[in-house]
Amino acid sequence: MGAMKYIGAHVSAAGGVQNAPLNASKIGATAFALFTKNQRQWQARPLEEDTIDAFKANCATCGYMPDQILPHDSYLINLGHPEKEGLAKSRAAFLDEMQRCEQLGLQYLNFHPGSHLRKIGESESLAIVADSLNSVLDATRGVTAVIENTAGQGSNLGYCFEHIAEIIDGVEDKARVGVCLDTCHSFTAGYELRTAEACEETFAVFDRIVGFDYLCGMHLNGSKAEFGSRVDRHHSLEQGLLGMSVFEYIMGDARFDGIPMVLETVDESIWADEIALLKKLAASALKL
Ligand SMILES: [Zn+2]
Ligand SMILES: [Zn+2]
Repeated sequence: MGAMKYIGAHVSAAGGVQNAPLNASKIGATAFALFTKNQRQWQARPLEEDTIDAFKANCATCGYMPDQILPHDSYLINLGHPEKEGLAKSRAAFLDEMQRCEQLGLQYLNFHPGSHLRKIGESESLAIVADSLNSVLDATRGVTAVIENTAGQGSNLGYCFEHIAEIIDGVEDKARVGVCLDTCHSFTAGYELRTAEACEETFAVFDRIVGFDYLCGMHLNGSKAEFGSRVDRHHSLEQGLLGMSVFEYIMGDARFDGIPMVLETVDESIWADEIALLKKLAASALKL
């Protein structure tokens, strides 16, 4: 039987996307996240045939299937943008990112819902996000758009499960929309996760409002910011204010099987140790 839990980190793709699976393999990861282009720039050169082939070959060699890989889009993209020009630019960039994933044979693209920039209301902006997804999903094949919950900094949408449900509600092809939960974002957005009981309750709320069927990935992060602070500042798993209960809970719960779960923790020099620790928690949960 293969690994039920896919655990890894958001690894570097410096020098080309083909290096990401190699970097993941080096730290003992069974999942990974990557940017398929520079995440701080709008423009990117198209992927070359050689790069695509090398990426696929390295994934095969290192044992990564598409359901273990969670690409992340650029931070510049705002699919809920209140203004025409900014929205058009974001939609074009997101389409390009979806097409890159398609070319690489990937099945997910993780994105942050967007921001209303205090120019329109939340619901109006959420409806724009859904419209953005409809047009991009229409123009692509095979790749699922994975909405990430946020800490709710500034005017960012996605800090409550209702926002995610509202976006999904507006998406026509519900088979190609999914959700990624970030433990740090959930906690600082005000979802309690510091005990097993609190995890039980928070994930029950998630299941009721969104549904575990939509869960396609997890970001496993500790938090430097306080509970409910709406601040997005990750910490290493065993440091910060979140504690280990949530990671023990996730590693012991079958609803998190078979999806990429990746660290975006602050100290990459201990990623191999953090992955080993999570694997140990998953293994000991199986023995119970
Ligand atoms: Zn995240
Ligand atoms: Zn974050």
